[in-house]
Amino acid sequence: MPKTNNLIASVFRKEVLTMSAYKVADAHGLIKLDAMENPYNWPEDIKEDWLEKLKDCQLNRYPDPEARHLTQTIKRLNQISDRLDVLLGNGSDEIIQLLLMALPETASVLSPSPGFVMYKQLSDCLGLNYLGIPLLADTFDLDLPAMLAAIEQHQPSVIFLAYPNNPTGNLFSETSILEIIKTAKGLVVIDEAYAPFANASFIHALDQYNNLLVMRTVSKLGLAGLRLGYIIGNPAIIEQLSKIRLPYNINSLTQISADFAFTHKSLFDLQTQKVCAERAVVFKRLSELDGITAYPSAANFILFRAPENKATEIFLSIKHQGILIKNLSAQGGLLSDCLRVTIGKPEENIAFLAALTKSVGQY
Ligand code: PMP
Repeated sequence: MPKTNNLIASVFRKEVLTMSAYKVADAHGLIKLDAMENPYNWPEDIKEDWLEKLKDCQLNRYPDPEARHLTQTIKRLNQISDRLDVLLGNGSDEIIQLLLMALPETASVLSPSPGFVMYKQLSDCLGLNYLGIPLLADTFDLDLPAMLAAIEQHQPSVIFLAYPNNPTGNLFSETSILEIIKTAKGLVVIDEAYAPFANASFIHALDQYNNLLVMRTVSKLGLAGLRLGYIIGNPAIIEQLSKIRLPYNINSLTQISADFAFTHKSLFDLQTQKVCAERAVVFKRLSELDGITAYPSAANFILFRAPENKATEIFLSIKHQGILIKNLSAQGGLLSDCLRVTIGKPEENIAFLAALTKSVGQY
């Protein structure tokens, strides 16, 4: 029998051995403003109706492998034309993984930096060549000449553009994105995880560009627990991705619950409006705080910069006061001294602002 160390080293790929797991902070007992969730749950009568639907679910059977009903609902709600196809994933994380798994070993993957960590994490895990192109320091917009030069040099198979971007919260310039789509010889994925808070989308451009894909999730909208994402695009591309999708990746409870939830779209729209109104309040208060620089956001979170070398102390002080936000300062570069707060309910935001004011006042 081999020693465990030798066993591990001989069995697993070097990419896996050197990577660290994606850590999710323990929010037990804390006000949770770290993960861009919708803070609102459902009214009791809607919960009752939902439980009624779940009663019919046959858990002894496999789910519909194609999630046909839910797919139709998603197509209808997003007014997706018949010339396009949709693939569903167990969260959009799974779709990113699927897409990257389908690439040749030598492929390059490009996205602006800072960006959503999973693009790099999953590329690294699969041994792909990941390129993070720095955003402009003052606006966090795309550095178009640098992006175009990197595309020219590396010919990436996939470019990910989060719109709005996580963790900076801004919408990249539409003309720069169109330029990138036109220049790229590979796929361009517009990741619209935060689109409900931005009123902006590239879905309308899908018919014009055969290398364009738009990815969405229901997580930020208020259904993070369901794990459901989807990607829309050219049927020939979706067909390739479908080949490596696991047959039953969307479980029965998710199919039923998401379909049900979409019949209450107006409820989610209302919750989204409340979050956007609160975002304006939190942004104003953050901007008024001495020593804090808040960055305008089109998403359901706000990135802000703390005084130099104080981000971790402030993060811990806020946590000590019962509120969990996200400390991004260790990522360095443009995120040095940066923290990110998700917009919560008004009382949660008030508690956060009070805790931050107290923490900053200590310097
Ligand atoms: N894209 C972006 C830009 C994100 O920020 C996130 C989650 N933080 C995701 C995709 C993944 O979302 P999910 O897997 O919950 O659908």
